[in-house]
Amino acid sequence: MLSASEPCLWIITACLYASCHVQSGEAQNPKEVILLDSKAQQTELEWISYPPNGWEEISGLDENYTPIRTYQVCQVMEPNQNNWLRTNWIEKGDAQRIFVELKFTLRDCNSLPGVVGSCKETFNLYYQETDSEVGRSLRETQYVKIDTIAADESFTQGDLGERKMKLNTEVRIIGPLSRRGFYLAFQDVGACIALVSVKVYYKKCWSIIENLATFPDTVTGSEFSSLVEVEGMCVNDAEEEADNSPKMHCSAEGEWLVPIGKCICKAGFHQKGDACEPCGRGFYKSSSQDLQCSRCPAHSFNDREGSWRCDCEDGYYRALSDPPSVACTRPPSAPQNLVYNINQTTVSLEWSPPADTGGRNDVTYRVICRRCSWEPEECVPCGANVGYSPGQSGLVDTYVSITDLLAHANYTLEVEAVNGVSDLSRTQRLFAAVSIATGQAAPSQVSEVIKEKIQQRSVQLSWQEPHHPNGVIKEYEIKYYEKVRTIYVSTVRSRSTTATVNNLKPSTAYVFQIRAFTDAGFGTYGPRVEITTKEESTATVVSSEQNPVIIIAVVAVAGTIILVFMVFGFIIGRRHCGYSKADQEGDEELYFQFKFPGTKTYIDPETYEDPNRAVHQFAKELDASCIKIERVIGAGEFGEVCSGRLKLPGKRDVPVAIKTLKVGYTEKQRRDFLCEASIMGQFDHPNVVHLEGVVTRGKPVMIVIEYMENGSLDAFLRKHDGQFTVIQLVGMLRGIAAGMRYLSEMGYVHRDLAARNILVNSNLVCKVSDFGLSRVMDDDPEAVYTTTGGKIPVRWTAPEAIQYRKFTSASDVWSYGIVMWEVMSYGERPYWDMSNQDVIKAIEEGYRLPAPMDCPPGLHQLMLDCWQKDRAERPKFDQIVGVLDKMIRNPNTLKTPVGTCTRPISPLLDQNTPDFTAFRTVGEWLEAIKMERYRDNFTAAGYSSLESVARMSIEDVMSLGISLVGHQKKIMSSIQTTRAQMLHLHGTGVQV
Ligand code: AMP
Repeated sequence: MLSASEPCLWIITACLYASCHVQSGEAQNPKEVILLDSKAQQTELEWISYPPNGWEEISGLDENYTPIRTYQVCQVMEPNQNNWLRTNWIEKGDAQRIFVELKFTLRDCNSLPGVVGSCKETFNLYYQETDSEVGRSLRETQYVKIDTIAADESFTQGDLGERKMKLNTEVRIIGPLSRRGFYLAFQDVGACIALVSVKVYYKKCWSIIENLATFPDTVTGSEFSSLVEVEGMCVNDAEEEADNSPKMHCSAEGEWLVPIGKCICKAGFHQKGDACEPCGRGFYKSSSQDLQCSRCPAHSFNDREGSWRCDCEDGYYRALSDPPSVACTRPPSAPQNLVYNINQTTVSLEWSPPADTGGRNDVTYRVICRRCSWEPEECVPCGANVGYSPGQSGLVDTYVSITDLLAHANYTLEVEAVNGVSDLSRTQRLFAAVSIATGQAAPSQVSEVIKEKIQQRSVQLSWQEPHHPNGVIKEYEIKYYEKVRTIYVSTVRSRSTTATVNNLKPSTAYVFQIRAFTDAGFGTYGPRVEITTKEESTATVVSSEQNPVIIIAVVAVAGTIILVFMVFGFIIGRRHCGYSKADQEGDEELYFQFKFPGTKTYIDPETYEDPNRAVHQFAKELDASCIKIERVIGAGEFGEVCSGRLKLPGKRDVPVAIKTLKVGYTEKQRRDFLCEASIMGQFDHPNVVHLEGVVTRGKPVMIVIEYMENGSLDAFLRKHDGQFTVIQLVGMLRGIAAGMRYLSEMGYVHRDLAARNILVNSNLVCKVSDFGLSRVMDDDPEAVYTTTGGKIPVRWTAPEAIQYRKFTSASDVWSYGIVMWEVMSYGERPYWDMSNQDVIKAIEEGYRLPAPMDCPPGLHQLMLDCWQKDRAERPKFDQIVGVLDKMIRNPNTLKTPVGTCTRPISPLLDQNTPDFTAFRTVGEWLEAIKMERYRDNFTAAGYSSLESVARMSIEDVMSLGISLVGHQKKIMSSIQTTRAQMLHLHGTGVQV
């Protein structure tokens, strides 16, 4: 029989000398937290063993000769063994799942000689949970069995009698545990065991830094399969990425798994390894989202570490909306080349962008309007009654029109360029400014129209003068059209507040509208008056009023009579400015009424025998005391031309030009001199120089004319070579054409239309001047004697007028083409230094002046149209005005560079754009552009007049709730056209 001690010594000795795994120097698993390690204790373990002859504590050495403590039992010879061994109390700490690793050797019963059936080859492992130590008594029933432990390898004797021993390692897991600690117990029931080591531990995921987040030490979960979710804490100067906070999972094996989310370095810091470091000086990082620090952008700096942005240098700023990555910028310089057009009480300004945008591309413009008194200069803001189109501030384009200014008032208009940093800057404002004086306002509407008499073919209307005539009403224009054929519009004019419109169709609905005309131009049309003519009755007595045949007959007869008188008078009186027509005034009236209903006709003053009578028929006699001559401004054929002031009783004094007749004049000279006044006095149009009156009853004899500050057009253009926009030049041409249209409609042929005979006022309004008859060409240095007799300004004159003195409005159109060329070439001499003879020959052979530099092809085409050999092919002045208006309305047609296109379709044929200014209400306007569905939207938003619509911006249109982009575009383009038409309706003016 084996004693208890013998085999034990033997076992341990065998173990120590065999190549077993009893190694105290074994590397510790870094994930484990050891609660008990028997091998680590070199003093006695002092576990409780019961009964005392059972488990026995024995010291030994491991392979490193380090002492270890073991427990052994080997009561294999005795039956009914029940030997218990209990560890000391083990405090579990955070652990929930405890690992118990046992290393032991177990003797094979077969290897024990003489052992009877009681020998066992297993032992049992138990535990007991308690909150504290429970003393040294051992009660089996309190233990919970963990497992029966068997050896993988038992301790056998080899074939050669050599003892082989295997060390078994078994690991068991207990948990979840709920008390503070526990005991382990080993029950031997008759085996031969050496418990070499007992290690009790749990597993932990140890603190790490992952994705800039720190994850703390984390005890694994209680179940084998459970993962413990752990929130990470961002390292210093880092922050959690938005909606992506860092998390990791601690596995039961103590491994960190499945990282989610991350931390990122805060603004001003960048990542270096597992930490965030501040950006260096001169660098910044504006957001945690950026990976790297960046160098400070232009015009900015910083001199501290860890900056999220750089500071701007002096004089440079960063707008609130500017990201720190963009350069610091500064306010723009002032706008350049500010010019303005004045049209009555509307001023349009145009300018070029500032030379320096301050480094930004958000430059807009704002306009500051101030009304100034005359003397001393004192200005006040213009107030809310003034309109700005497209707006007063936030202007993206380089133009604005300012409407509803007071008539005859002084204004200072400033245009300031602003950008995103202008409001941050405390430096002085930079702006371009002009001082202007407004003209006269157009008359207000004619609104009270009375239907006096309605016949089958005529309608008689009367009306009240407008409430605000804003000047002397020269005439009224009555526009009418068949209600169902709105595009065929006719007009008649009347100098009084009544008119009869003839030649209408019976039983037909007509629409009538009336507007007044003053020096300031036309007012807007009054409301539409609808009238249906009477039914035609077969029994009606044919009257001259109702029968056009009779009218034509009367016209023909009357016309013939007058023509006979005129031709006769012309022949008789050609050499003298006068032929007695005293008793024919009634006939003249008749003639006007029938030949040109509503339109005045020019009367040749030479048909008057007494030139004084002609002068006083058409010109007002002025008292010389009303005239103050100030200085000489030029030399005319008959004497000096002076500037001065005219002060009529009860009126403000106005600047005037005064043509004087030199002393020692002959009677013919006096007559010829005053002839010009007799002609000029018959005209009344904004683009024809206006006669104020004459002084014939004193000396010197004077002709007093409105003062045209900029003198003659040719010299003016040469002085300002290249300084105008094409639109401005076309505006001048439009004015001249409108003046000529008026003169041609009156039956007046100018014969000497040339830039030198156009005068320009301070608003750049061009007016036709230099009227004469017997003296035609005498005072024109350009006029030369031709073979056909008479002096002719060859370069300006149509071939038929040179060859056989055929002067007509068509020959004036030819001259107008030359004026166009002069204007577009800034006063260049037509045909340069070619001789007159060469010019005549070249024209005869088909040569025509080429397009001046930068002249849009459409304009040159219009010139070529004016220079058609066949005068019937030339456009009429009316058509020329239409073409120019169309160009002004569509400035894009003026942009095409010269030489890029071939001959375009004649612009004269393209009359499709409607005249929006003719519409009286917003409703009509919307109807015309087929957008009447938005009528309520416009009304609800308070857009009740066309003027207010013309000021709308795209934002305004959108704010009406018009969401279809196509409709927005259509409305916007119609608004722009309307605006342009309004601006250019009555000529243009720009002061230089
Ligand atoms: P005329 O005799 O009409 O050719 O005038 C001679 C010069 O006097 C012109 O070339 C102009 O420079 C100047 N002049 C004539 N009329 C005016 C006017 N109404 N206003 C200003 N200057 C004028």
